[in-house]
Amino acid sequence: MMNRLAISEQTRRLLAKYNLQLKKRFGQNFLTDPHILEKIVTAAQIHPEVGVIEIGPGLGALTEKLAERGSPVIAIELDQRLIPILNELFQGQPNVTIIQGDALKVDMLEIINRFQDVQEIYLVANLPYYITSPLLIHLLQNRFPFKRLMVMVQKEVADRLTAHPNTKEYGSLSVFAQYFAKVEQVFTVPRHVFVPRPNVESAVVRLDIRDRPSVQVTKESFFFQIVRASFAKRRKTLVNALYAVFSSTLSKDKITELLCAAQIEPKRRGETCSLEEFAKITEVFSDYFSSNRHLQLGGWKK
Ligand code: SAM
Repeated sequence: MMNRLAISEQTRRLLAKYNLQLKKRFGQNFLTDPHILEKIVTAAQIHPEVGVIEIGPGLGALTEKLAERGSPVIAIELDQRLIPILNELFQGQPNVTIIQGDALKVDMLEIINRFQDVQEIYLVANLPYYITSPLLIHLLQNRFPFKRLMVMVQKEVADRLTAHPNTKEYGSLSVFAQYFAKVEQVFTVPRHVFVPRPNVESAVVRLDIRDRPSVQVTKESFFFQIVRASFAKRRKTLVNALYAVFSSTLSKDKITELLCAAQIEPKRRGETCSLEEFAKITEVFSDYFSSNRHLQLGGWKK
């Protein structure tokens, strides 16, 4: 196993050999510490029966650790300049496939379907920071058949993903992630293990996708609209936050009445509500809209 200096040196050697300038806009902060790489694959519980999709292999440090566990790995890298380097690094390793593409735009299902004889599909990545939230939303919302997402993200995003009600980190991203997955912050990662050093600390988060969402709602998109509306103006009470969105179809008194019917004190703020409480609000509002069909859901301000 290479020590940290060796990996660091390998990164620098590859950069020099190919005369590569790293691109900040691609979120290129490469991991150089083999212990952290090892910790990620261990925490992800990678084994040969797991097919792994890696987003952003960079210079292949994490890819190599994943491949060492005997898993078939498909790595999707946006930066065209890295593709020949990765192909050279992994030539002769039939379990590693490199694909050039944007993780937000590739046909993920088609890529997943390339795995044969695997029991589960995991996604493992040191994510480029600029796409973290859109990518997680894309992966969860489209219900790709991932069983686990093991991702390194900015510590601040990790805190939001795992946050509980009544904390300043708790917001629509927390509700979204926890609706689809059991989310756990596994360990934090200091800045000095990256080349170049990012400005902020990172953390590794494991999202174990639930077979069924953590709360049951009749209309999922409406649930997320209620959640987003409740957090849109954090200082507003729920009644005011929801009125800001529903004012074309519902009076403030009606919103107050519906919140009370959901057993939610209207003066509370969105950040105090659990997923179960958001689900209750959603159900009461949907029932009201279904029994008053002239007030179409679409009638409310976007
Ligand atoms: N996995 C490597 C490591 O841990 O050292 C590199 C991680 S680096 C934080 C993020 C990588 O994602 C870079 O190689 C970058 O070029 C790539 N990337 C950026 N945007 C991407 C996108 N939309 N789709 C796929 N890869 C992307």
